[in-house]
Amino acid sequence: MKTIFITGASSGIGKSSAQLFQSKGWNVIATMRNPEDGKLFANLDSVLVERLDVLDSQSIQLAVEAGVKQFGKIDVLLNNAGYGTCGPLEAATSDIIKRQFDVNVIGLLEVTKAILPHFRKQQSGILINVSSVGGKVSFPLGSLYNGTKFAIEGISESLQHELSLIGCKVKVIEPGVVATDFAGRSFTFYNNENLTEYQRLLPLIFKFFEESGRKALLPDQVAALIYTAATDGSDQLRYVIGNDAQDLIGQRQTLSDGEFTKTIKNKFGIVP
Ligand code: NAP
Repeated sequence: MKTIFITGASSGIGKSSAQLFQSKGWNVIATMRNPEDGKLFANLDSVLVERLDVLDSQSIQLAVEAGVKQFGKIDVLLNNAGYGTCGPLEAATSDIIKRQFDVNVIGLLEVTKAILPHFRKQQSGILINVSSVGGKVSFPLGSLYNGTKFAIEGISESLQHELSLIGCKVKVIEPGVVATDFAGRSFTFYNNENLTEYQRLLPLIFKFFEESGRKALLPDQVAALIYTAATDGSDQLRYVIGNDAQDLIGQRQTLSDGEFTKTIKNKFGIVP
């Protein structure tokens, strides 16, 4: 029986993934900041709910130890915990900047580091990092979020080389917009209306979010792709899902930097 360790399993993509892997006969270590949120897993022997805040190193170590103790090994790590931010960089406080990178990037590295000794010992393992279309394509006012997801892409691409030496694979999931708590309680918007030059971008980006939200994927669809990444046995690194993500990433790959920038500027009504 295989075991998956999931961060951010309290809601959205993480929760759907925990449910799907459990239904497929896997052991699931469903980690979350508040274990109360894992009540729906309470009566399932194959699911261990553990407290884990990616900002708290001790909670990471304890959750990994508890998972290994319960199930003997961990086959797959799903680094899913994360949240979004949006706004003009000049309006972002140091706390907002640091927290975005601490949760989305440093936290992911810390959890990965805590699991790697187990992967190395068993000479196998699959590391799955949840990136985003925003890890390949950047949007206006997304400097922090895009920065974190671009970082995850670079981290994953690099790690696949060293981890191949210990029999491990790396996978990156790049969803478009997904209907979860991401755009609601998990989102931090920052602004300073005195920064008048940037204000005209705000209604444009909100309109884009609203339109994208109407075509959003369901978290179950992303969970199904994560299951494929965990089980297809391939060396494929990237898995894209969502028409919006496929279109934008496709354009990013085929157009020059200049042409692509123009496309984004047109999309958001920014006159060069
Ligand atoms: P979500 O429903 O808001 O889930 C976010 C999860 O991250 C929650 O479980 C949340 O825990 C957890 N989290 C936040 N800060 C944490 C911390 N410090 N330590 C541990 N867990 C923490 O949103 P989602 O859409 O499923 O997001 C999951 C991942 O998908 C994120 O990495 C996000 O960037 C990525 N993604 C989302 C979309 C989208 O459109 N929804 C698109 C592309 C990529 P709490 O319940 O305790 O807050």
